[in-house]
Amino acid sequence: MALMCRNVKNSIRLFRAASVTFRHKSEEKLPHYIEHSTGLERKELLARAAGNDDPFGMNVLKRGAGTKDQPNLIPSFEEKRIIGCICEEDSTYINWMWVHKEEPKRCSCGHWFKLVEAKPL
Ligand SMILES: [Zn+2]
Repeated sequence: MALMCRNVKNSIRLFRAASVTFRHKSEEKLPHYIEHSTGLERKELLARAAGNDDPFGMNVLKRGAGTKDQPNLIPSFEEKRIIGCICEEDSTYINWMWVHKEEPKRCSCGHWFKLVEAKPL
């Protein structure tokens, strides 16, 4: 127990020694949140800053005519995508289904859906 207490005291001393090296407040500057981000989050923030409010195609889309000749176009980065159709305006459930590229699919309500190539970020 005494050894454990000594290690804790040493840790506190190390922490205090490290915390002494502050810069003057006039030199401190936090990076902008976009500069501070990395990876996929950075791509998303840059796309949103450029005016694209749905960079990953996750927003709810309004259905169009939805006929076999004019299907609802669903952007996708992959070969298939799961989509949900709210068949009726007052519906209490979502009809989920897989849609594959090059294979337009008809929902049970009669609307057709087709995958199209999504623009990469
Ligand atoms: Zn439907």
